[in-house]
Amino acid sequence: MLIVQKYGGTSVGSVERIKAVAQHIAKTASDRSVVVVVSAMGKTTDGLVKLANEISSNPSRREMDMLLSTGEQVTIALMSIALQELGVPAISLTGAQVGIVTEAEHSRARILQIKTQRIEEHLQLGEVVVVAGFQGISQTRHQEITTLGRGGSDTSAVALAAALQAERCEIYTDVPGILTTDPRIVPEAQLMSEITCDEMLELASLGAKVLHPRAVEIARNYGMPLVVLSSWSDAPGTRVVSAIPKRRALQDLELTKPVDAVEYDTNQAAISMLHVPDRPGVAAKLFSGIAVQNIDVDLIIQSIHEGNTNDIAFTVGKDALKQAAAVADAILPALGKNSDPSLGEPEVKTEERPIAKVSLVGAGMIGRPEVAAKMFETLAAAGVNIVMISTSEVKVSCVVDAEDCEKAVNSLCEAFDVDVADTSSSCGSCESEEIIPPVRAVALDIKQARLAVRKISDRPGMAAKIFGLLARENISVDMIIQSQRCYNVDGVLTRDIAFTVAEPDGETAYQILANAALEFGWGEVVLESGIAKVSVVGCGMIAHPGVAAQMFEALAASQINILMIATSEIKISCVVEEEDGVKALQAIHKAFGLSGNEVVKVPA
Ligand code: ADP
Ligand code: ASP
Ligand code: MG
Repeated sequence: MLIVQKYGGTSVGSVERIKAVAQHIAKTASDRSVVVVVSAMGKTTDGLVKLANEISSNPSRREMDMLLSTGEQVTIALMSIALQELGVPAISLTGAQVGIVTEAEHSRARILQIKTQRIEEHLQLGEVVVVAGFQGISQTRHQEITTLGRGGSDTSAVALAAALQAERCEIYTDVPGILTTDPRIVPEAQLMSEITCDEMLELASLGAKVLHPRAVEIARNYGMPLVVLSSWSDAPGTRVVSAIPKRRALQDLELTKPVDAVEYDTNQAAISMLHVPDRPGVAAKLFSGIAVQNIDVDLIIQSIHEGNTNDIAFTVGKDALKQAAAVADAILPALGKNSDPSLGEPEVKTEERPIAKVSLVGAGMIGRPEVAAKMFETLAAAGVNIVMISTSEVKVSCVVDAEDCEKAVNSLCEAFDVDVADTSSSCGSCESEEIIPPVRAVALDIKQARLAVRKISDRPGMAAKIFGLLARENISVDMIIQSQRCYNVDGVLTRDIAFTVAEPDGETAYQILANAALEFGWGEVVLESGIAKVSVVGCGMIAHPGVAAQMFEALAASQINILMIATSEIKISCVVEEEDGVKALQAIHKAFGLSGNEVVKVPA
C-alpha cells in the first residue's frame, strides 16, 4: 500500500515544524510505503520573488524557475535529515531526479509524464522518498528546470499519486480541511467532510487557494482519492470525491484535452428585463418571485449598465416561460420610471425564436484563454450567431437559435475532438455518501477588472474576434457576458459584450480592444478596475430552485449593488464593487447558513 502525502509551506515553515511533520510521516511509514511532497518553507517562495524584483521588474522566466525551485530543495533535504534522525530511512529527490517531465513552458509548465522507476527502487528498499514539489524538468535537449505555477506542489503530489497508482493522496495544510469559505475573511467558516471534484474545481479556480485547481483536475481524471487535512491534528479533514472515470493513459498526464465534452439543451426559453434601474434589490425581487413559483432558472446574465440601467436575462424550461414572464411583468410597476427617459423604460421581452444552449465543459480551460476563443471562432465559421454567452471557469455556454443547434454541436465536437456529454453524469453521480446541499461553499475573488465593448455588430464572429485577440496575448478571461439587448446603429444591429480579467491584465486588454474598436468600428471600450466577484458553488443547486434569489436577497439586504451576474449549473457569480467584496462574502455565507459556532484560527 502506497500513500502520497504533501505538506504545504506553513506546515514546514520552521525546523520545529519539519521535525513534527517527520514524526507524523514516521507513523504512517511504519506500516506502508510513503512518498512525501513538500513545499518551500513558509514564505520562502515569496521572498525569492521579491529578491528578483529588487533587481528587475521583468526577470526572465527561465531564471525565475531556476531561483524559485531552490526553495523546495531546502525542504526536501531537511525533511530527509529529520526522518533519518528518527531512524526512518529516507532519501530526498528533486523533480529532475525523479523524472517529473514537463512542457518547456517556464513558470507554468504542465506535467507530461512521471518516470516512476527511481522512486519505486527506493520504495523497494523501504525508504521514504521525499520529493520537491512545484518543479519538473523539460523534455527538450537542454533539460531545463521548470516550475508548475504558484501553489503547484499540490499538483506535483496528485500527479505522483496517479503515476504511482497510490492508494490515496493526502494534502496536509494549515487549516482543518476545505472550509465553506476562506477562514481568513470569515473565521466562522465550517469544515466540510466532503466536496465533489466539480465543486472544488469551480472553487479552486476562483482563488480558494487551499487546493491548486490542476491537482483537482488530475484527481478527477484519474479517480485518485484525495483528502485535505490539517498538519496539526488527527482530524479526518475533507474528502474530494468524484465519479469513477474512464481509464486514462499516464502519458500526457496533464496535457489531456482542454475540453471534456460538448453539452446542449434545447428545452430552454429566454426572458430579459431591459432598462431596469441599477440599484440594489432588483435581481432579488425578480428571482424571489420566480422561486416562489418553484421555477428552475438556468442561465442568469446581468450585463453592464448604460447610464444607470441594467439588463437582466435568464433562461427557464420552455414550459415555464409564460409563468416566469408573468412574474417579471408583475414587478415592472414597482421599478418606477428611469430618471433619464432617453435610456428607455423598463420592459420585459421574451425571446420568440426557439433557442438552444450549447456548452463546452472541461477543467482544462483554466488558464487557457484560447479555448473560449476557439469556441467562438468555430461557431462563427459554422455561421452560427451567438445570442447570449455566460461563462464559469470550467464551462462556456452560448445561447444560439434552436435551428443552429445541431450545426453548432457538430462543429464544436469536430473542432475539439470530443463527443456530446451525457449530462446526467455531470455531478450527481459522484460517490457521495451525503445529501448534497444547494450551496456548498462561497468564494471571493478581489483582484478583478471589468471590461465592456459596446455596440459590436450582431453577426457571427464578433466574440471570436475579441477573445481571439486577448488569447493571443495569453490574457485569461474569467466571466464573459453577452446580453440580449440590441441597439440599432445606423440600421445595423449591435450588442454589448462584457467580461472580467485579472486586474493586472486590465490595462493591456483595454489597449488591445481600444485599438481593435477603432479598426473595426465598434463602440466605446470601458475599463473598470477595483471590482470583486463573489460566488456560490454547489451541485445541489441544480435541483433546487431559489438559490439565486437567496443570494441576491442577501446582497440586497446589505445594500450591495450587483454589477454583473453570470451562472453555470453549479455556480452563481456576482460582480460587485471591490469595497463591497468582503461584506458581500460574509453576508452570503451567513444567508446560506454556512457559519458554524467554532472559529477557525489560521496559523501565521
Ligand atoms: P499550503 O501552503 O499548505 O499549500 P495554502 O496557503 O496554499 O497552503 O492554502 C491554505 C490556505 O487557503 C488557508 O490558510 C486558507 O486561508 C486559504 N483558503 C481559501 N479558501 C479556503 C477554503 N474554502 N477552505 C480552506 N482554506 C481556504
Ligand atoms: N512554493 C511554491 C509556492 O509558494 C509552490 C507551493 O507551495 O505549492 O507557490
Ligand atoms: Mg498551496
